[in-house]
Amino acid sequence: MASITRNLDQVCREAYDLIIIGGGIYGSMSLLEASRAGLKAILLEKNDFGWQTSFNSLRIIHGGLRYLQTMHFSRLYESVTERSWFLRSFPDLVRPLPCLMPLYRNLTKNRLTLRAALRLNDWLTRNRNEGLPPEFQIPDGQIIGAAETSRLFPLARSNGLRGGALWYDAVMPDSNRLLMEVLRWSACAGGTSVNYVEATELLRSDGMVRGVIAKDVLTGSDHEIEAPLVVNAAGPECRAVAQRFSEDEPTLFRPSLAWNVLLDRAPLSDGAVAVQAPTGNSQMYFAHSLGGRLFVGTGHSPVHDNTVSGPTEDGVSAMLADINRAIPGLDAQQADIKRIFWGLLPARRPGSVELASDTVILDHGQKGGPKGLFSVSGVKFTTARSAARRLVSSMTGMVTGSDNAGLPDRPTPAKYDLHPDKCGERAERIRRAREIIDNEAPNSLVDLLIRRCNLVGDPDTALSIAPDCCSAFDWSADESISQIADLAEFLKAEWRPMPN
Ligand SMILES: Cc1cc2nc3c(=O)[nH]c(=O)nc-3n(C[C@H](O)[C@H](O)[C@H](O)COP(=O)(O)OP(=O)(O)OC[C@H]3O[C@@H](n4cnc5c(N)ncnc54)[C@H](O)[C@@H]3O)c2cc1C
Repeated sequence: MASITRNLDQVCREAYDLIIIGGGIYGSMSLLEASRAGLKAILLEKNDFGWQTSFNSLRIIHGGLRYLQTMHFSRLYESVTERSWFLRSFPDLVRPLPCLMPLYRNLTKNRLTLRAALRLNDWLTRNRNEGLPPEFQIPDGQIIGAAETSRLFPLARSNGLRGGALWYDAVMPDSNRLLMEVLRWSACAGGTSVNYVEATELLRSDGMVRGVIAKDVLTGSDHEIEAPLVVNAAGPECRAVAQRFSEDEPTLFRPSLAWNVLLDRAPLSDGAVAVQAPTGNSQMYFAHSLGGRLFVGTGHSPVHDNTVSGPTEDGVSAMLADINRAIPGLDAQQADIKRIFWGLLPARRPGSVELASDTVILDHGQKGGPKGLFSVSGVKFTTARSAARRLVSSMTGMVTGSDNAGLPDRPTPAKYDLHPDKCGERAERIRRAREIIDNEAPNSLVDLLIRRCNLVGDPDTALSIAPDCCSAFDWSADESISQIADLAEFLKAEWRPMPN
């Protein structure tokens, strides 16, 4: 069965080998890998699946080209292996993404250095296309001329343009659908996942983990769930959870703010472009398309704790100014911002914008904490499955391959497109919505239309089909009105600047 249902009474009667706290991509991949290793595992998410950091990524599956700069070959190989896995396992949701970087007179990023870097990258990753069908293969990178660069990216700064570096990464336009498909796949392999359930307390006896107290966020009732192993994959909250269940572990998470902007502008090219303002030590930004609009990231700001609620107005203005210097013809204004996707990521040092370089996997038992409690904290969506493999191996001693051996076939992808162009008939839309409601446990219109059906970039469609979806939920007229109001609020909460 590939269903995710929310029958807590039934779920809590079972005994488990493992409880995973957090339904972001790290928790979801941990569920998949644990199920593959034969563990009976349950994932608890206190809100909706994937609502937090995982929803806000730039949606790029990195091939790790940037790690050549720092000679981090193991990270390069890890990223490439994971990119190939995503392309092989989710051909419906992940595809190769051409990336173009215009080149100018520059000491480090010029035709010569980029040609050498792309050649080295191609050689080091020469096995990257094994097992991939032709349309998903990652071609070699190349240096192209100035005229071709301008043709592919007409707004590229023409003054001093020497050509462009063209390479390939991969993109997952609907990253939350991908996360849901990981949970459905886990369900086929015996994994259970429940949303709107918060792990509030660790149960232990004689220094060993016995399970957790789980609060049903929708009813307020508490349940005991038993398991000798607990994984804390609570993303930005993993340090707070570790502190509550064991003791503070600063290495788990020192927050740093990161954000992407969705602009009401056409994409700049068919793929992604990588741009940098010509002056000083400017940051590199990536821009590609999300739902036909221009999606640019990633801005960074230092923060000292988890209490922020997004970037400041000054932070966003500085980012737009940087982007406008990099692409003078763009002239992006704050009024063009449709939405800001932001989240907290682990920094290398307190108050730094430099992100942690490695995933942290912590066995609390080894540090004098409860035996059977583990924490995982990572910095990339791309490498969440590889982290989960290492985590499961450190818990069980079992080493799994980077393929899908031991997993059942991925279930047929859900039919989640409710757009009138794809299922014009109202009856068909209601039928599809009911299928998602029955099999994926959305609890609100926002869960259904934004996190299951990827309509975040298309508010008009989301609002136009909302009444049909209320019928699929069988809500009363009052409930439907309140749900539609919540959806409208979510969609218009495009960006409220924080005070500086
Ligand atoms: C702006 C931005 C751009 C990015 N771009 C990219 C990119 O292009 N490519 C890439 O590979 N990576 C990217 N990333 C990084 C990537 O998004 C993160 O590394 C990843 O999503 C982190 O996933 P997570 O599961 O650790 O955290 P989260 O997704 O935050 O999940 C943690 C979950 O734990 C839940 N939780 C917390 N406490 C409890 C509890 N007590 N009980 C139950 N549940 C609990 C939370 O509700 C949350 O859903 C980006 C990140 C940001 C912020």
